[in-house]
Amino acid sequence: MKMFVRGQWVDKPQRIEVKNPLDGSIVDTVPRADAGDVDEAIAGAVEGAEIMRRMPAFERSQILRRAVGLINQRQEELAETITREEGKILAEARFEVSRAAETIDLSADEAKRITGEVLPLDAAPGGSGRLGFTLRVPCGVVAAITPFNFPLNLVSHKVGPAIAAGNAVVLKPASDTPLSALKLVEILLEAGLPPLAIACVTGSGGEVGRALCSDHRVRKISFTGSRDVGEAIAKTAGLKRVTMELGSNSPLVVLPDADLEKVARATVATAFANAGQVCISTQRVIALDAVYEPLLEAVRPLVEKMSVGDPFDEKTRVGPMIRPADAERVARWIDDAVKQGARVVVGGHRKGTLVEPTLVADVKPEMRISCDELFGPAVGVTRAASLDEAIHLANDSRYGLSAAVFTERLDTAMQFAREVQSGNIHINWGPQWRADLMPYGGLKQSGLGKEGPKYAVQEMTETKMVVIHGLE
Ligand code: NAP
Repeated sequence: MKMFVRGQWVDKPQRIEVKNPLDGSIVDTVPRADAGDVDEAIAGAVEGAEIMRRMPAFERSQILRRAVGLINQRQEELAETITREEGKILAEARFEVSRAAETIDLSADEAKRITGEVLPLDAAPGGSGRLGFTLRVPCGVVAAITPFNFPLNLVSHKVGPAIAAGNAVVLKPASDTPLSALKLVEILLEAGLPPLAIACVTGSGGEVGRALCSDHRVRKISFTGSRDVGEAIAKTAGLKRVTMELGSNSPLVVLPDADLEKVARATVATAFANAGQVCISTQRVIALDAVYEPLLEAVRPLVEKMSVGDPFDEKTRVGPMIRPADAERVARWIDDAVKQGARVVVGGHRKGTLVEPTLVADVKPEMRISCDELFGPAVGVTRAASLDEAIHLANDSRYGLSAAVFTERLDTAMQFAREVQSGNIHINWGPQWRADLMPYGGLKQSGLGKEGPKYAVQEMTETKMVVIHGLE
């Protein structure tokens, strides 16, 4: 495919190969952009931002609503593109497409809800005879940088609110998965978005991403990806607003009163989706002594049943990981944990990018499989002697994106919700659950700010204070 810069589909002699994660075959190629292309894309977006600033909210909403219809029309093609470039099983890819439509639909709603507030200026000494109110105005040019793992919906979570808020957006999708993003650009243009209001620049994060983040014409950066790249971007960004959606090693705490059948189902559903490559995947199960062994026995048969393989095969539950190096890393971290005293209950084998869903018991908090972000299809189980110790272990992480507890007691659930340092808390399900309308974002080093169209629109607009004097 070509990239979209300053209102044109543009090609370059240098190409990036987009590979099928299953077998490394080439799915397509995209241009390898450089800093000059970023400069051109931003110049176009500056003009686009002027067009968008003047466009009525009704019209912005209508464009987004038409895009929803087009996403739905192209649902199967988009799902197959996601599976081909990202490797998730087709059922999950179809679900991602329906979520992307929902995200853009919510953005269309939010375009009509951007309001300010009236301030009681007469409440200030000397403030009488004045009327004060705020206006929320678009930031201007928004840079959107996205990861590989949800190549359509996470792009929608940035582009939808940016347009709803009246901005122009320059998108830099992950180099592994740029095709879904480029198709979304086609859709938005067909829906009537002014061509200068969007650019999609394909190229390496180190060159294209960095050039985008350092440019002073960009007023707002919305980034989703790894903690380390997020920190590098924050340093490059200087005086810009930033939203950061970063990683985690999400805990799931299991208390003695939990229904273990439900816990087992939730563990499997929330640890292995997208081969564990979800920012809120269950990575650390923390089980109290009384349920530790029974829980392993309840989870084991469900994991044994999961088939690994071709994501287009309807029987497959776990597809490939994105790159061979990531699959090797996950296998290595499992081996390291075993060398340090953990035991593999099920799984543990790897063939190419296919890693078996793996259940590891006797995991200690200092093992890499527990304390770093694994981002793969393995879950480690750790013992705790009490609720307090379980909460301590859940919080013993630099991350804080999502956390879950299974208990039948409301007071215990509320203690967990209050004491666990996490942007999302789930009671009686695993940490990996999201409705696209929720305020979504991490505490600690999992991020800054919130996504979800209502909240992203807030982050992609700025406040102006207006005071009318002389109204005695
Ligand atoms: P990544 O390596 O951090 O890359 C994310 C994006 O940043 C890519 O587009 C990448 O471009 C770009 N990039 C790399 N270096 C850059 C730089 N110096 N300046 C600007 N941009 C740069 O992450 P990933 O491997 O694609 O995705 C996995 C990570 O994303 C995990 O840590 C996961 O937890 C996190 N994630 C978080 C959320 C959330 O909502 N909190 C959701 C999904 C994923 P290239 O592809 O060209 O390198």
